[in-house]
Amino acid sequence: MQTGLANFIRDTPEGAEAEAILRKCVHCGFCTATCPTYQVLGDDLDSPRGRIYLIKRALEGAEVTARTRLHLDRCLTCRSCETTCPSGVQYGRLVDIGRALVEARTVRRPWDRLQRAAMSFLLPSTALFAAALSLGRLLRPFLPPALKAKIPLQTRAAGPWPTPRHRRKMLVLGGCVQPALAPGINAAAARVLDRLGVSLLDAPGAGCCGGIRFHLNRQAAGRDDMRALIDAWWPLVESGGIEAVVIAASGCAVTVKDYGHLLAQDPQYRDKAARISALTKDLCEVIPVDAIPQRTAVTSVAFQSPCTLQHGQQIHGRVEALLTRAGYELTPVRDAHLCCGSAGTYSLLQPAMAGELRARKLAALHEGLPRSIATANIGCLSHLQAGTDTPVRHWIELLDDALERKMTA
Ligand code: SF4
Ligand code: SF4
Repeated sequence: MQTGLANFIRDTPEGAEAEAILRKCVHCGFCTATCPTYQVLGDDLDSPRGRIYLIKRALEGAEVTARTRLHLDRCLTCRSCETTCPSGVQYGRLVDIGRALVEARTVRRPWDRLQRAAMSFLLPSTALFAAALSLGRLLRPFLPPALKAKIPLQTRAAGPWPTPRHRRKMLVLGGCVQPALAPGINAAAARVLDRLGVSLLDAPGAGCCGGIRFHLNRQAAGRDDMRALIDAWWPLVESGGIEAVVIAASGCAVTVKDYGHLLAQDPQYRDKAARISALTKDLCEVIPVDAIPQRTAVTSVAFQSPCTLQHGQQIHGRVEALLTRAGYELTPVRDAHLCCGSAGTYSLLQPAMAGELRARKLAALHEGLPRSIATANIGCLSHLQAGTDTPVRHWIELLDDALERKMTA
């Protein structure tokens, strides 16, 4: 696609990157077939091709309006379009550039600004989020339905975290909302890895990966969170002996794997960021399938592969193989490539679209009559659980149960 970028962006790193991406797009529209928002709304401007056109026009200096921003806001950043695109268009990187530009040139309504400011303040802080969750439980009857459904009545106990005893060591990301919503996820990861001869270490202060604020279009604040996380991990990384940085939430894993790119313009952090990205693995990548004792299937589960796992990290079949080996019968899931509607803060900011996508996803997940649903990301877990009584759990908890023989038929 030919572009003529406006003077204000032509000679910047963002301009160069956007132009290279735009040149690859041949406007064929193959991506529209797998775009969740296009499937629901049927408007080309709510498809990848339409959004690419809007971003191109903005970069060329055309007027940007609240309508332009709405179409970009409605995008889930699920990157399903990247998996489908035959030309290798990196839509996710282009939409980051487009959103920053559109945000700077438009003014949001006060309520929208307030919501975003509250999320940007509360969610990245583990302590603040835990306090807000406790308060939310008290005020649950008075909250709007979309928010109320997100607040679990209780939190499962984490269980023990094995004392570090192995020569092989990996660092784990604590995360921001996960410790309060599901502390059992990282504890289960620590138990499973301990059985495989790896000690999992939790560095003090290693909280939010920066994805929350970055995707709320506070990109500078998101990058500050990324630098803070690098600082928290760096002493342990530099001291040697850390084999990998392990992340159980696929949404955070995809962000940290991209630090090298996101901080490439920061001379003080770019080398550290690239090192952290190179060390980072999604949790499923560090557990060899053949290290799990083989067991015949005793119970059924439907696996929801988060977009950040299958499209963002391009990991396919790995979790499914681990669960099958451990004794879970995986039920078929129709349209498994489609987003569940969680998408970080999207489910709070775009509740109608998020609710519709969740209803479709839950219908597909339930078709095989599973006893439980597994996922790989805390955001998807809490979003899906808010719409069903079927237990929704992180796959590592199911694997831990299997190794502990706590599965029920
Ligand atoms: S992003 Fe890819 S699939 Fe979509 S219109 Fe452009 S070239 Fe075609
Ligand atoms: S990232 Fe997802 S929602 Fe956004 S344009 Fe691509 S397929 Fe559609």
